[in-house]
Amino acid sequence: MARIVLKFGGTSVADLDRIRNVAARVAAEARAGHQIAVVVSAMSGVTNQLVGWCQALSPLHDAREYDAVVATGEQVTAGLLAIALQELGVEARSWQGWQLPIRTDTAHGKARIQSIEGGEIVRRMQAGQVAVVTGFQGIAEDHRITTLGRGGSDTSAVALAAALKAERCDIYTDVDGVYTTDPRIVPKARKLARIAYEEMLELASVGAKVLQTRSVELAMNERVRVRVLSSFTEAPASDDAGTLVVDEDEIVEKEIVAGIAYSRDEAKITVRRVPDRPGIAAAIFGALAAENVNVDMIVQNISDDSTTDMTFTVGRADLARTQAVLGSAQPQIGYRDLAIDADVAKISVVGVGMRSHAGVASTMFRTLADKAINIQVISTSEIKVSVLIAAEYTELAVRALHTAYGLDAA
Ligand code: ASP
Ligand code: MG
Repeated sequence: MARIVLKFGGTSVADLDRIRNVAARVAAEARAGHQIAVVVSAMSGVTNQLVGWCQALSPLHDAREYDAVVATGEQVTAGLLAIALQELGVEARSWQGWQLPIRTDTAHGKARIQSIEGGEIVRRMQAGQVAVVTGFQGIAEDHRITTLGRGGSDTSAVALAAALKAERCDIYTDVDGVYTTDPRIVPKARKLARIAYEEMLELASVGAKVLQTRSVELAMNERVRVRVLSSFTEAPASDDAGTLVVDEDEIVEKEIVAGIAYSRDEAKITVRRVPDRPGIAAAIFGALAAENVNVDMIVQNISDDSTTDMTFTVGRADLARTQAVLGSAQPQIGYRDLAIDADVAKISVVGVGMRSHAGVASTMFRTLADKAINIQVISTSEIKVSVLIAAEYTELAVRALHTAYGLDAA
């Protein structure tokens, strides 16, 4: 008998039939004798609609009222799932964030969970009652409802699993696990049986949108074993269904490269002819940080006279703001002009095996060279190599790299 947290995303609870399907899965786990807490998202599309309503009334709406509105989607599914479970003869009740409570800070719209009071639901789980908890939401110190940012139900589930000391957190979604790359681009992509937290974190942050990045961080810090699996396959899920996100020590056969991710949401900016003297990088990136612009890759080119070029990338959504910030800072920074390129893609190879194996980066560069793909910017971390290339070569690059690292399914 185990204590398990099950999380169901929006597509898994999209309509009443899907909710019945979820109830049947939950009922099977409960009947197997497990103690079950379920975390639910809003029905798919609902949060988008709620967000849209707030924006339609006022683009600069009160963030606290935004949270009051968008948190309702999860309240509906939690109640409906509890009813569906009761229909199957399973004792169940719904819990909203404030009822546990799930305490967060006051950063409305992107709040962070501070603590979860799990005592009462544990007592009831031990007595056989299933707890159906709303994802995405909590309550701040001032008793106002907060939400955790889009995709935040994953984080709710992992945080609840940590608070309840659950054996595992099963995240049900519409894909059957984490793949070596996007199967829409590479049909030979393979599902990974296991992936290390660090790898998942890098993949999530470079565009593989299976789990909310913050949920992976939390799982890593709290050592929560997370399983990603589909609610669209036959129930009950077998023991080897999905992908287990775990500590790298739990992965026996480590691959050097676990996966290849891409992101088309980048834009490249070159600040041309900036004076080459101390304080210039601080002036440029300080001004951007002050406006909350996240800078990703950075290169400073060598200078032949007293000026240099500085190239970096930002999220494409931040491009206009970046141009505005740099425009007004031009007198202080003293650059000549900006070159903007939004037609770029970032391709990343990720794997903990890189720590102990040489040659991963050079394989990447060689593979791209063989396809005549020009590399514009390179950045590396301990377990990741990323390059920026022209967006039109995204598919070609991902396919070639997938083959080069031996990831293609037989
Ligand atoms: N319903 C919220 C959203 O769509 C939270 C979630 O589903 O994780 O972003
Ligand atoms: Mg999600």
